[in-house]
Amino acid sequence: MSVTGICHVCESAAARHTCELCGQAVCRDHWRSTTGVCLACARGTGGEM
Ligand SMILES: [Zn+2]
Ligand SMILES: [Zn+2]
Repeated sequence: MSVTGICHVCESAAARHTCELCGQAVCRDHWRSTTGVCLACARGTGGEM
């Protein structure tokens, strides 16, 4: 199995998603499936929690 990368938020979990805003790889816990962006971007844009 190949791991594409490490989550750029927690830097410990395997990244399974890519933020549509910053393009960074993020893990499931730090990716908002509702918006398709990472937690950092979700906060910055004032999007829904
Ligand atoms: Zn993470
Ligand atoms: Zn992002």
